[in-house]
Amino acid sequence: MQLGRIKSATGTDFGIRGENGEPWKRIADLGMDISRTGEVISRWDEISDAYIRSDRGGELDVELLSPVVAPGKILAIGLNYMDHIRETNSHVPEQPVVFAKYSSSLNDPTGSILVDPHLTEQLDYEAELAVVIGTSARRLTQENALDAVFGYAVANDVSARDQQRRDSQLSRSKGMDTFCPIGPWITLADRVGDPQDLRISCSVNGEVRQDSSTDQMLFTVVDLLVHLSAGMTLEPGDVILTGTPHGVGTGRKPPEFLKDGDLVRCEVEGLGQLENRVKTDPSSCPPETVVRQVV
Ligand code: MG
Repeated sequence: MQLGRIKSATGTDFGIRGENGEPWKRIADLGMDISRTGEVISRWDEISDAYIRSDRGGELDVELLSPVVAPGKILAIGLNYMDHIRETNSHVPEQPVVFAKYSSSLNDPTGSILVDPHLTEQLDYEAELAVVIGTSARRLTQENALDAVFGYAVANDVSARDQQRRDSQLSRSKGMDTFCPIGPWITLADRVGDPQDLRISCSVNGEVRQDSSTDQMLFTVVDLLVHLSAGMTLEPGDVILTGTPHGVGTGRKPPEFLKDGDLVRCEVEGLGQLENRVKTDPSSCPPETVVRQVV
């Protein structure tokens, strides 16, 4: 089954459907009024039972929005594909490189990626497998970690490379508004199979830039769940972005960055695709400087 967030003339709501091509059933039409993804997931047994008992009718002509609404955490992992580690001439990390993205950076599956040329001239894409947590979980083990997964989606860890270098960490350069397209829906884990055997790709204006497999991950989804849950409770609706394979713009020779009008398509096998166009931020303006030079 799939969990989406749908918008149509009828309004905006979470939707459920069996598989690709089926109409979306509004969760409100199943008698539930829910505003956060975490609550949908917590009540999933009730929702799916009601859906199975229903006529399964719904809407086909919908706009898909981010299926992740108000997550407690968006955790992300850097340098997690061996081919990407090589292209960036980075050291192989001994443990996962963890950073955070923020809920204000969430973007829809076809939403515009807004770029302010005053803030970055090096906008880049990163196709990623996103893991959506299904249960409250702490101290997961290699044996039970996947039991905590609700489902999987496609994400684009949009990055401002010049700001990434200036900052001593990643949260601002990867946490700007619209820098986390995700979706197009969440596919439940039991429909995905082995998360370490999925083709993952990204194209820009139709040119393939990334084409790899999740089998290239240095730390598997299980490893990441064990590592992260050792010190923090993972909650329903939390998201983990699991890193990107080789082929990012900054790794090309010469580097090629995204510009106004570019269409970025990210896809993970069986999970659908994101199609986001880059657009100059209409509120773009020179930022007030906060640079200090202390001598
Ligand atoms: Mg990334």
